Amino acid sequence: MLERPVVKIAPDTYLVSEYKLVNMFLVVGKHRAALIDTGGGIGPLPEDIERLTGLPLVVIATHGDPDHVGGAGHFPHVYLHPLDWEHSRRFPLNNTMRKWFVKTRAPVRNPDNERKIDALVPRQELPQPEYLPLADGDVFDLGGRTLEVIHTPGHSPGSICLLDKENRLLFTGDTVNVSMALTGHDFHEYNASLRRLWARESEFDSICIGHELPAMREKQAIARYISMTDRLMSGEAAAVCAPDAIRVGKVFRENGLEIWCDCEA
Ligand SMILES: [Zn+2]
Repeated sequence: MLERPVVKIAPDTYLVSEYKLVNMFLVVGKHRAALIDTGGGIGPLPEDIERLTGLPLVVIATHGDPDHVGGAGHFPHVYLHPLDWEHSRRFPLNNTMRKWFVKTRAPVRNPDNERKIDALVPRQELPQPEYLPLADGDVFDLGGRTLEVIHTPGHSPGSICLLDKENRLLFTGDTVNVSMALTGHDFHEYNASLRRLWARESEFDSICIGHELPAMREKQAIARYISMTDRLMSGEAAAVCAPDAIRVGKVFRENGLEIWCDCEA
């Protein structure tokens, strides 16, 4: 069976990779641990987490896309911003979705292991997730370490980032990664979210992103996306049609970062 890649990225902080398709993170405090995102639901996630910590677990999703809440059914409850509860039902959370996800993502993100990852799609359907609400400003106290919710709509209406001030980390989900996707082409809301994050940049050094490796990146990506969206809004830059293996839409690429708009997937 294909082993799940797990990497310690900071003290008591682990990248729990969904076989290089999605980045999840385990943040361990003194009294409890937080799992940030649940991937698409591929592989024995609860067992893999239990190997890393025996502490009580709180599970928090950065947003409601199926590759982040697809494993939510493994757990009794998952915190998700209510604005994404409906969003999360756009795609059925079932094994047909999981197989489609592996078929479309693995050839790009982990081409050597596509068949082995497909074999890790559960045989039986997972229960549907039970969501609990969270809101901007909420703080999850893990004991000696906290995660603060920052609501950052743009990629999805209920997208959040989580700030770990004690370890100066910002967990960004799909709000900031190397390939940003927006379903429409209104950059204002996303730009405002990025500005909210950057206003607090003195509180963190690095960002932990939702896809692609390495999972920990320089926080300057936020400032660069602000600049890119500023220019898209002013007309100084334009996104052009350039479908790739994963996405159909328009893209603006600059020095290793890209932003997609009018995306279908
Ligand atoms: Zn997403």
